[in-house]
Amino acid sequence: MTEEHFDAVIIGSGMGGMCSAAWLAAAGLEVAVIERTGHLGGRASHRERHGAIVTTGAIMVPMGPGSAIRQAFDVVGAEMNMVDTTGRMRYRLAHGDYDLPPGGGGLYGMIEFAFEGDEPQAQALFARFRDAMSWWTPLDSITMREWLDQYTDNDNVKNLFNGYTAALMGVGIHEMGAGTFFQFLKGSSKGSRFGLAAEGNGDLMATLAAALEARGTTIMRRTQVNEILVESGRVSGVRVAAGGEERLIGANYVLSNTGPDRTVDLAGGEDNFEASYVARLHIDADAATIFHLSFLMDRPLIPDLDGSLVLGNNTNLIYLEIPSNISPYLAPPGKHLHTAYGAPVDSANVDYEAELENTMMELEANFPGVLAEAEFVVKAMHRGRAPGMHRWVGRTMPVATPIRGLYNVGDGCTAPGTIGTEGAASSAKLATSDLLERHDRATLRGSS
Ligand SMILES: Cc1cc2nc3c(=O)[nH]c(=O)nc-3n(C[C@H](O)[C@H](O)[C@H](O)COP(=O)(O)OP(=O)(O)OC[C@H]3O[C@@H](n4cnc5c(N)ncnc54)[C@H](O)[C@@H]3O)c2cc1C
Repeated sequence: MTEEHFDAVIIGSGMGGMCSAAWLAAAGLEVAVIERTGHLGGRASHRERHGAIVTTGAIMVPMGPGSAIRQAFDVVGAEMNMVDTTGRMRYRLAHGDYDLPPGGGGLYGMIEFAFEGDEPQAQALFARFRDAMSWWTPLDSITMREWLDQYTDNDNVKNLFNGYTAALMGVGIHEMGAGTFFQFLKGSSKGSRFGLAAEGNGDLMATLAAALEARGTTIMRRTQVNEILVESGRVSGVRVAAGGEERLIGANYVLSNTGPDRTVDLAGGEDNFEASYVARLHIDADAATIFHLSFLMDRPLIPDLDGSLVLGNNTNLIYLEIPSNISPYLAPPGKHLHTAYGAPVDSANVDYEAELENTMMELEANFPGVLAEAEFVVKAMHRGRAPGMHRWVGRTMPVATPIRGLYNVGDGCTAPGTIGTEGAASSAKLATSDLLERHDRATLRGSS
């Protein structure tokens, strides 16, 4: 017997965990979110550093009505305090910069920019993209790089799309299935909107938490789940530690936001899971690493940059944003906050120290003098338990597990065509709709 019992316990308050709580609380379930740290949001949160509001990970957050994030916020009546930056994208190649046109139509423009204005070549390749988006979607049996190799030997084109995929999806064109690429491109061209949290991602999560608590959800901070309890192939709760004491919490359902590998460890190891699931866990199991540099300056490096700069002219450095250009709230008065990301050349075989160092060097090469001027507040390698993404896009695990009542949510088990925060929220939608359907059937039968 345990003192506390909930319909559902969610382990972790990342985007996947919090969005799961929203769907379940809205359906009237008694829910507890258990978070190991004192902060909500995981890699979609922020910390204060030298007076600046610095992201723990995500910076471009989907916010349109079609987004699973927005839907989860809406379902419990939580506002998203965002600055909409949809379409504000600048691309850099060795020969210059290209701004997406505000009215759309940017894909052709990007291709023409990469071909340095050579229209016949640009039109020929664009026609291939159009076919892939409207008729024959390529399969993941070839990479996006191999797909491009069929139609062009232009390096600029490949560098541009490599920057695009590394910045938006965490891996390069040589690491991503062509089908996955086009699935993402189709999804993101359907009027999707994204932006920057005006007062930091932690503020978004605090708003969502307040809406959840108003509906009776229990949120436990500084409480670590040390074990997922399983009885006769079904979850029965969790064993937690807080303030040096351990206790058991009972639950009919457990949703783990800790990443699929950690979930297996918490639930007693691979021997407790059916063999096909364990085999899948080991196939294509690499996480996507991201290098994160945030720094303050007395001036903005690019005064007119009010969105994202995607860099296709480097080996590691792929992204720069100046959050305080978009929301001045994010930097102390007189300072300008910059966030740059780097991606490994080979995500399955990363030289961590050297590639972080090279990301810094490429920052200097693009913006001479920056290293002397900048005050660094974050220099991080996102890998291990908190990587860029738990699994590469297109290679994720299912949300259901062989243990009854146990689900995974988060960026290790995203819905097809989704990534990052949106992928985590999409996994929450998938897991909770399956859970609620089963719960309703069990309730009708008189048991859960
Ligand atoms: C540098 C960087 C840049 C990124 N940029 C973007 C971007 O611009 N746009 C975008 O959409 N995505 C971006 N991402 C990816 C995005 O941040 C993640 O995909 C997403 O936030 C992951 O959410 P999640 O649901 O998997 O949970 P996580 O963020 O992994 O959160 C899991 C939570 O569970 C808690 N936890 C773990 N174990 C336990 C335990 N045993 N007990 C209790 N609690 C536990 C952790 O403390 C954490 O709070 C970026 C990531 C990084 C690292």
